[in-house]
Amino acid sequence: MSKIKVMDEILANKIAAGEVVEKTMNVVKELVENSIDASSDEIKIELIDSGVKEIKVSDNGIGMDREDSKLAFSRHATSKLKNLDDLFNIESLGFRGEALPSIASVSNIELKTSNGEVGTYLMLSGGKDMHVEDSDLQKGTTITVKDLFYNTPVRLKYLKNLYVELANITDYVNKMALSYPNIKFTLINNDRVLLDTDGKGDLRKVIYQIYGADITKKMIEISGENDDYYIHGYISYPEMTKSNRNSITTLVNGRVIKNNELNKIIVDAYHTYIPKDKFPIIVLNIDVDPILIDINIHPTKMDIKFSKMDTLKELVYEEVTKQLKKLTLIPTISTRSEEALRETTIPLYNAFKKDEVNDDVKYEEVALDFSVRDSDDGISDQELGSDEDIYENKLEENQPRIKAMIPRGIVYSTYIIAENEDGMYIIDQHAAAERINYEKVLKSIKEKVIAIDLLIPVKIELASNEFLIIKNHLDTLKEYGFLAEEFGMNTIIVRSHPNWISDDIAEECIRKAVDIIITKEEFDLDQFVWRMAATMACRMSVKANDYLSYEDQLWLLDTLRKCDNPFTCPHGRPTIITYTKYDLEKLFKRSLD
Ligand code: ZN
Ligand code: ZN
Repeated sequence: MSKIKVMDEILANKIAAGEVVEKTMNVVKELVENSIDASSDEIKIELIDSGVKEIKVSDNGIGMDREDSKLAFSRHATSKLKNLDDLFNIESLGFRGEALPSIASVSNIELKTSNGEVGTYLMLSGGKDMHVEDSDLQKGTTITVKDLFYNTPVRLKYLKNLYVELANITDYVNKMALSYPNIKFTLINNDRVLLDTDGKGDLRKVIYQIYGADITKKMIEISGENDDYYIHGYISYPEMTKSNRNSITTLVNGRVIKNNELNKIIVDAYHTYIPKDKFPIIVLNIDVDPILIDINIHPTKMDIKFSKMDTLKELVYEEVTKQLKKLTLIPTISTRSEEALRETTIPLYNAFKKDEVNDDVKYEEVALDFSVRDSDDGISDQELGSDEDIYENKLEENQPRIKAMIPRGIVYSTYIIAENEDGMYIIDQHAAAERINYEKVLKSIKEKVIAIDLLIPVKIELASNEFLIIKNHLDTLKEYGFLAEEFGMNTIIVRSHPNWISDDIAEECIRKAVDIIITKEEFDLDQFVWRMAATMACRMSVKANDYLSYEDQLWLLDTLRKCDNPFTCPHGRPTIITYTKYDLEKLFKRSLD
């Protein structure tokens, strides 16, 4: 009996809409997902010129019989599922039976497959002239797609450039490797190995293969659950960041998804731990009863709606912040080992030979690391540091994470030098004061806001679109102590300020508050409060070059160490760095190690 069933008409139509093979990534995606469906535990992707010349995907899956392999190239045939609801319940990914015929129609395609009983070799050109012959019985499937878009040169032009295509493919394969640590993934472009996982089921090792040892050592395991969700995975120390969101991988029931709300709550949890334009590295699995999710399929990504989003957000936020709070996060001026200095990351442009690329290619477009790591001499657990190592850094909750420090002097009228039995510290006096004031301001906002009348109300003229936005948020402003009213054409007048702002900076803060509201596309109360508090804190704090007495310094250090997060200012910059005693001994060659 053939495994291929003719697809339900509605499903076909639903999916066919918007389904276009317009990027090499889509072709790779389709082929890889077919391989996963075929229960493969080894999938090898070999590309020539980012796949434009050739994409070859081979697996060791169950293979196909002769009839199925021929049917695979006819429209509306799929062995996968009959109904959209099946999508998250069954172990099936390649639900778009449309794609293979589409790919075949714009390329020269070769298929070699065997289920162990019959071996088939099949060839098509532009989706026509099927040629079939016998092949060996090596179980699995190899599909080779050559000369993509050779018969539609217009589309070929739309492929932005080889780097972007390769960046997209690598990002995709990385995420599949994170979703399926049990499958060995190999990705090769022009003979260069870009990813090679071992398929032994260890998520931490996959993280290492993708991000390298330095980052993997700085990943903390998290897990937690509530009535509806179970979450587990790894999150990075705040010092390990990337400049784009690509490094946040979220999976639902083992499948990579994209959900902006979820990404946002993760970034929010790192708020003030890292600068605004940086993002943590996250691999987060969410296990949930499929009843609680609603799938929205798009050809290139999978978005999901959760019916109990609030409890999920709460769980994620709590677990991430809980782990971050336990860490001691003082950057060390560490005497980095030579191995660590040897860069393991190969920039993307090295993934091609020089003459293969145009000069006008923009490297900045590509925001991925292309790393090559040999999985054979894979990293040992020792190298990665065991979980115990990481937990060693953790202290009991509510206990200050830095021991009491004694100030020893100030350099450049800005940096306090201090010590305790663990090491020597350098503290940025402005950043430290800013952190202290930030937490103080946040607390008073949470307690109760009292509005204080201004002697001279502040009049603010706005552009008409800005005026409309502000009009919409007059209640929010009032709730936070800014009593504002309309005052003629596109103008508002603010009559009070909250008690956590001192009189002398009131006007500046009022303008800032209005500014924060109008510059954000979507108003976000948390962001509003955080940014206000950060601005106030900055204005209230001692500056670089301000004089601090010994008592001031003592107070500053002691108050800092008792903060919820003593390590960074509200803008994510460090407040304190350290040379451990060991670092010093090593620098002065007193310690032989
Ligand atoms: Zn500042
Ligand atoms: Zn700051």
